[in-house]
Amino acid sequence: MRLIVKGGTVATEKGISKINMLVDSDKIVGFTLAETWNEALVVDAANMFVLPGAVDSHTHISYPEGKEDFFTGTSAAAAGGFTTVVDMDHKSGCTTEKKYREKIDVCQLKAITDFGLSAGIIVEDTDLEELDSLARLGTPYFKLFMPLKSEYDFICQTLTACKETGIPLGIHAEDMTLINYFSNGLDWSDPISFVRSRPEVSEQMATAAVLEMADYCQSSVHFCHTSTAKTAELIIEAKKRGIKATIEVQPHFLILDETSFAEKGPYVKTTPPLRSSNIKDILWRQLAAGIIDFVSSDHFYCAQTEKEMGLKDIRQAPAGIPGLEYAVALTYHFGVNKGRIDLKRFVQVIAEAPARFCGYYPQKGVLAVGSDADFILFNPEEEWVIDSSNMFSKAGYSPYDGLCLKGKIKRTFVRGTEVYDGLSIKVSQGHGRYIPSKRLNRE
Ligand SMILES: [Zn+2]
Repeated sequence: MRLIVKGGTVATEKGISKINMLVDSDKIVGFTLAETWNEALVVDAANMFVLPGAVDSHTHISYPEGKEDFFTGTSAAAAGGFTTVVDMDHKSGCTTEKKYREKIDVCQLKAITDFGLSAGIIVEDTDLEELDSLARLGTPYFKLFMPLKSEYDFICQTLTACKETGIPLGIHAEDMTLINYFSNGLDWSDPISFVRSRPEVSEQMATAAVLEMADYCQSSVHFCHTSTAKTAELIIEAKKRGIKATIEVQPHFLILDETSFAEKGPYVKTTPPLRSSNIKDILWRQLAAGIIDFVSSDHFYCAQTEKEMGLKDIRQAPAGIPGLEYAVALTYHFGVNKGRIDLKRFVQVIAEAPARFCGYYPQKGVLAVGSDADFILFNPEEEWVIDSSNMFSKAGYSPYDGLCLKGKIKRTFVRGTEVYDGLSIKVSQGHGRYIPSKRLNRE
């Protein structure tokens, strides 16, 4: 199938301009001012932005105990403007070649968008023996979750083992010794106690320690969240010393804050927790300046009934926020519409930078000749209200319910095929393909 995507404002690798984009089968083959192209189907993009499909480096769609599967999760991704998502298990699971291959097979049957898999969570010494084969299978990064495993000797060992594979270690950085200490004597019927139990110092101490260990081990490290003003500063200082480090942020840290706990309690419980409201502006400035590398959703599915378990005791609710459907539109509305980032930086933080980090660039994350024809039509003028009752994710709730956004994803294409038309999913389960990271080939 040949397509001419016509009349839109297109964000290509060379800049943003009014131009028509040519797609042949699954690839972008050119850009032209010509109005027609032989035997091509016209995709009308008048008054639209044509943007590279967003790449989500960090989702937790897999949740064996629940209703969400890779079909509903990647349907949410497609509706949210993501054309590639990287999934990671919540618990130790995807840490052997056998399990990783099995997960590819299971996800392949269900996926709407393309996908990658992060190997993790690493908790056992024996997991380290499998890293090389997992790297060869194309994991974009390994994952270590400090709340589960935070002994420094194990982190050093893991950083060294990851370095040998050429693949970075992704870290959830929180210091559990401090969190246990700050948890003493709190009233858990008050949801804000969750924030008090995990103060900023617990993220910052963990970040500083991991950076020192990465320096000592000469390893690359990626921080899967920043929720404090200081976390990214620690990383930028470390980079000046030659430490290879990257960092991502989620829309909930850019848009929500701890005041949401009073109203939404367990529904905004996530780790690290939401912070005070003045930090959001600092995070936006860090994102605009490139001190924070990119945005991910950290999408997390759990059932509403599980969240409700935290109404009387906040500790009982699972931590995480379903974010795939709204992350791109939220980042646009609160970033571009509010003047915090420009359109070029928006495209970088939702598509190009995560694709580069994952080793998918330039196959993904960019509109360029030879790249996969993964793109979205985005209407920057359309206003709409978030209503989780019609979300594709089986979560069926959102802390963003009722928010009015300007800017809407109208159509999503994966490898030249329309997967979402603004209302429904247009392809059958299994359209999405596993995308191995090309990080090893590149380096
Ligand atoms: Zn996560």
